[in-house]
Amino acid sequence: MIGYGIFGFELASLPRDLREDLFLSLASPGWGRRGSAAATIAARLTFENLARSFDGNEALRGVSLDIEPAETVCLLGPSGCGKTTLLRIAAGIERPDTGRVLFNHQEVVGPKTFTPPEKRGVGLMFQDFALFPHLTIIKNVMFGLKNLDSKDAERVALATLERVGLARYAEDYPHILSGGQQQRVALARAIAPRPSIILMDEPFSGLDPRLRDRIREETLAILREMRATSVIVTHQAEEAMRMGDRIAVMRDGKIVQIDTSEEIYNNPSSLFVARIFDEMNEIPCVVKNNEVDTVFGRFPANDLKEGQEAVFGARFLGLAVSKEGTGRAGQVLGRVIDRKFLGGSALLEMAVEQLDLPLKIRLKENSAPNVGDEAYVFVDTDRPLVLAKDD
Ligand code: ATP
Repeated sequence: MIGYGIFGFELASLPRDLREDLFLSLASPGWGRRGSAAATIAARLTFENLARSFDGNEALRGVSLDIEPAETVCLLGPSGCGKTTLLRIAAGIERPDTGRVLFNHQEVVGPKTFTPPEKRGVGLMFQDFALFPHLTIIKNVMFGLKNLDSKDAERVALATLERVGLARYAEDYPHILSGGQQQRVALARAIAPRPSIILMDEPFSGLDPRLRDRIREETLAILREMRATSVIVTHQAEEAMRMGDRIAVMRDGKIVQIDTSEEIYNNPSSLFVARIFDEMNEIPCVVKNNEVDTVFGRFPANDLKEGQEAVFGARFLGLAVSKEGTGRAGQVLGRVIDRKFLGGSALLEMAVEQLDLPLKIRLKENSAPNVGDEAYVFVDTDRPLVLAKDD
């Protein structure tokens, strides 16, 4: 039994579907007969009030997060906000100064506990965990299967390579593979022992955009088949939205918002979060009588205080243009000063009276006006963003 020991549960206490999964993995260790990833027993992963400093620099400042079994959570945030440190603590490569990590309610690190990385049963796919160049591809995948005898390890490794479509390269060395193929071998190595928890640190960052999309979709499919609990670090909001059941947005060592992508996109808790999720025009304003007054009219100030400095956020896709004004309030006349062709869409820059900076607007290419044209700009969203100014 690989990787389950530390969870210490009774088989009979498990729900039926999980028992069947466990039976499947014990009866046919390695991979499913149909070439799909054998299911594993997903684990709950809990971070409790974690803090970690390096030479007085606080990398984590009280991070708590409860991840459901089989859930995929993406950690999203700018460089240096503590994403990798959190992952390294979960893996056991780093120790927290204070706080606890629990797998299925059992402490793996706490004030008096430390389960070493090799006993945690987690799969790792880190940027700096490159393949071993002196080992064949199958030996690379067998690396995490030390608990099995070599025949079984080989069988499991081969089946895993089959799943990621690379079995034919089993006896070759990593240098003959493309970047995407190497990434798939790294994925195979991480998942071969069927870990309950998978931790990935920017696993696709080295790939070109098209390959990245494909490998990302394949990885997601495999994670879902395995029902592994996954934490994925990324800088890219779109990647987080594509992969995460939930997204934890981090800033300066803290989680500032955690929710589904849709909820965060529609209701960002701050300007910082809104900016991470999408490009937008920021129009400064001040709260007066629970509203803000902008060139596009008045909008509710939500729970901001009277007199507070705020920002009206108009996403590039949240503005629209019309050649003829309708005479309704909320339309403002502007002139196109730049137009970038972006395939199916065009990105316009429009100079508008009363605003110092031009507005950026993304429109369908064939309906976008040309440079020099005049048009009326209006807000085209049900969810206008009014957020506190960010210092
Ligand atoms: P990136 O997206 O650039 O990888 P990150 O969000 O993953 O960044 P971390 O790598 O967790 O951020 O780093 C958080 C902070 O802790 C940074 O200021 C970093 O310099 C610091 N830090 C992390 N590890 C160490 C270390 N081993 N020694 C000293 N400082 C460290």
